[in-house]
Amino acid sequence: AVLVVGSANADLVVPVERRPGGGETVLGGDTTLSPGGKGANTAAAAGRLGADVALLGAVGDDSYGRLLRDSLAAAGVATGHLRTVGRPTGIAYITVTPDGENSILVSPGANSALEPGDITDDVLDGVRVMVTSLEVPLPTVEHAVARASAKGVRVLLNLSPAAEVSRETLGALDVLLVNEHEAAYLLGTAGADPRKLLELGPRAAVVTLGAKGAVVVEADGSTEVASPKVEAVDTTGAGDAFAGALAASLAEGATLVDAAKRAVKVAAVSVTRHGAQPSYPTPDELE
Ligand code: ADP
Repeated sequence: AVLVVGSANADLVVPVERRPGGGETVLGGDTTLSPGGKGANTAAAAGRLGADVALLGAVGDDSYGRLLRDSLAAAGVATGHLRTVGRPTGIAYITVTPDGENSILVSPGANSALEPGDITDDVLDGVRVMVTSLEVPLPTVEHAVARASAKGVRVLLNLSPAAEVSRETLGALDVLLVNEHEAAYLLGTAGADPRKLLELGPRAAVVTLGAKGAVVVEADGSTEVASPKVEAVDTTGAGDAFAGALAASLAEGATLVDAAKRAVKVAAVSVTRHGAQPSYPTPDELE
């Protein structure tokens, strides 16, 4: 089974001609509400592919929390470890300008209530692959990584949004998953050799390269995995689709390179459709 430890947010997306400055009011277009958050997206992507997957996270006792629960269940994600807490569900306020650029303000809300103590041993029972990302409190993520790694669970960290994590955590990772910006953040410079990521401690690293696909870095060499050419309409949640697909394949016993080959296909389909979770394909939609 796959366990995702991560965030669940309601995405409120508003098209705007331009973003308001301080003290200014700007009128935008109609708001679209959709289920999001890196953890929920990753779990939904794996669930759509048929993986046995659960999300360990937290939502509020409100309509957004119910929307997330319903959307996860529809994608086949187990929600028994999704706690309802006394804070509002996390919300991402997203403005999109005509050039397609997003600005995102996240109010983590309930996600902030996810504590190290939530990662109990029984949560990890029967888990082959754990995936986590950084929209939940760092001590929770670091504790989850340590616990899972000590139990022999394969651990993937999607270092997104980029933040400083301990050497110990990096050293406990089976797979460090980053996009080009996050790789540059970790290596202190853009365009650095992705093989240098292994010097930070993970056993393997995967760097996603947008329309170019991804590169898989392992101790015995690196492999470029090209993306299928597609007409991108909305890249929201593409990295999460990649993460979920990667984890689903690894849990089935695929090699990291084979898992990345499937993940670029899944992420490519996701960018041809609007939204994050609603854009994720089932296996028969991959052809
Ligand atoms: P993030 O979404 O985290 O910023 P990327 O932009 O690298 O990360 O995208 C993640 C993955 O999504 C890529 O590895 C690729 O497989 C897929 N992807 C993103 N943009 C495109 C695109 N324009 N065409 C095809 N695939 C894409």
